[in-house]
Amino acid sequence: KTESTAWHQDIAHVVHPYSNLDAHSTLGPTVIARGDGCYVYDEHGKRYIEGMSGLWCASLGFSEKRLVDAATRQLNTLPYYHLFSHRSHPPGIALAQALTAVAPEGLNHVLFSSSGSEANDAAVKLIWYYNNLLGRPQKKKIISRLHGYHGVTVASGSLTGLAHVHRDFDLPLPRVLHTDCPSHYHFGLPGESEPAFTQRITDNLEQLILEEGPETVAAFIAEPVSGAGGVIVPPAGYFERVQAILKKYDILFIVDEVITGFGRTGRMFGCETYGLQPDMMTVAKGLSGAYQPISGLLLTDAIHDTLRAGSRKHGAFAHGLTYAAHPVAAAVALETLHIYRDRDIVGHVREVAPYFLEKLDALAEHPLVGQVRGVGLIAAVEITADKAARKPFEPTAGMGAWIQNRTMEYGVIVRTIAHCVALCPPLISERQHIDELFGGLSRALDDALVHVRA
Ligand code: PLP
Repeated sequence: KTESTAWHQDIAHVVHPYSNLDAHSTLGPTVIARGDGCYVYDEHGKRYIEGMSGLWCASLGFSEKRLVDAATRQLNTLPYYHLFSHRSHPPGIALAQALTAVAPEGLNHVLFSSSGSEANDAAVKLIWYYNNLLGRPQKKKIISRLHGYHGVTVASGSLTGLAHVHRDFDLPLPRVLHTDCPSHYHFGLPGESEPAFTQRITDNLEQLILEEGPETVAAFIAEPVSGAGGVIVPPAGYFERVQAILKKYDILFIVDEVITGFGRTGRMFGCETYGLQPDMMTVAKGLSGAYQPISGLLLTDAIHDTLRAGSRKHGAFAHGLTYAAHPVAAAVALETLHIYRDRDIVGHVREVAPYFLEKLDALAEHPLVGQVRGVGLIAAVEITADKAARKPFEPTAGMGAWIQNRTMEYGVIVRTIAHCVALCPPLISERQHIDELFGGLSRALDDALVHVRA
């Protein structure tokens, strides 16, 4: 890698999020300088197919002119305003209308923020406020799942079920609990069938609620398909059973659609793919195709009615951010929703997904692959040191980084998390892009096999 001026300045001055800064100081950055469709180019002009849509977000690729024009128009009209103190602005209003029109039934109200973490923080605070309004301040616990990912701020980081997100920050917060991850591959007992596994882990959820006392448990949060925790596709019947338990104990269901929203699973929302009926839903990433930072917390009429009536006697929900529903971000998100509609992006995903999943399935035979899993245009390839025993490589072997780096040498960007390679290409991907993505990945896996056996 040529060490450019930018490369040196990056090491000298940029604190990289979620990164081992010591390793970074010698490895240095891959400086991505421009994008075009499903491709990005580094500062030396090398082209990569972006198999992860950046961070699971650039659904429309990297050169959508309509979004650039929407931002420019808004910057020229009203570059900033807010929604505090009974002010409003046209893009915020139009986006709220358009978003609630496509959202699952009953989610007719939206509170905007700028990131997925903030949307989930807002959900936590709103649930606590809501139960205060209802005169049941003891009902504040929130159950999340191990290996779920909901962000990194203090509240959303607590919801995230990953030890390294908690370790150095004394998280989770006391009122956040975690239950099983629904991955049969990783957590099924020896000889346990998938239906038996599903029964056992949902029994565990009910048991946890009973031990804590249902009168203390306010909500359960889940991604329809867990993304950053390793692309966990739920087993059949899992969410059906979970929802029945939540109903039985009067526990709200928050669905985190930050990755799965807007077509990723082959339906507009993961809620539709898995038959979920949320009381609250969070969205971000694909909401604006990642061209602007914006997120939303959607609420049902029932919750909103309570907030409205309650705030009359209790006082306002004292939460809001300067850039919530930023007009430029809102205008871009509105245009993104129009593009999804005009180009039938969900229909396109349903058309190319079988091809994507066929290519994925073909990798299952590879000696280093323990399992492949996916739905729509999101997938994972589980890397294993011992296929029969489902044993991963030791972290010290650095296999994830090795495969990721080799894939990049072949001009393909994927992301290794835990023991899997995640794939989440732009929703506009065509067969040729899918061929390139899997072409680079399978060459890297073949090389990895030679490397392991050497
Ligand atoms: N929820 C899910 C499902 C996510 O995947 C992420 C980020 O990857 C978040 C929440 C947090 O979003 P952000 O990074 O925008 O705060």
